[in-house]
Amino acid sequence: MTPAFEKLQQQLKRLPGVGFRSAERIALHLLVEKPTQLAELVATLEAAAQSVRRCERCGNISEGPHCAICSDERRDQRLLCVVEHVPDLVAIERSGAFRGAYHVLHGKLSPINGVGPDQLNLTRLLERIEQGDVDELVLALSNDVEGEATCHFLTQRLAGTNVKATRIGFGLPSGGGVLYADAVTLKSALEGRRDYL
Ligand SMILES: [Zn+2]
Repeated sequence: MTPAFEKLQQQLKRLPGVGFRSAERIALHLLVEKPTQLAELVATLEAAAQSVRRCERCGNISEGPHCAICSDERRDQRLLCVVEHVPDLVAIERSGAFRGAYHVLHGKLSPINGVGPDQLNLTRLLERIEQGDVDELVLALSNDVEGEATCHFLTQRLAGTNVKATRIGFGLPSGGGVLYADAVTLKSALEGRRDYL
């Protein structure tokens, strides 16, 4: 194989869910079988990189200052589901069980890995709370030490406010996040959320 092919394969292999064999197949498909598709993919990637950004309010992906969920007046904007990553939000949306809005932290507190409050999308959440924009935080963080530490950090910040904190987790696999839960499990986890404090 050629150096350019190998470089493409290496890049593809870095993508989530793509192994060595898949990377090889995709690289050959794009370079040899379907070069027109390659050109379309390049153009689509460039356009997406230009237009997609983080929602200024919640951290979800967006093409404007605010994402579609934050702009939707039919949703309860005072009920915030706090998730670690955008795919968690997508999983909850797919379950259809939640009609509030979100806040995406883009990670969880992990001192061992050098992730402190400043590395997460926390400032904006604390602002939303301080501004009185929130009635309830639904903590949908993973059931591990780091998820627990993040929940604890957030609930400490709620002291002296009227914001209620609840935690989902009922039925979710221990150590797992919301990403790997099926829609039915997520629905019951959201409906069965418990007060957290
Ligand atoms: Zn948003």
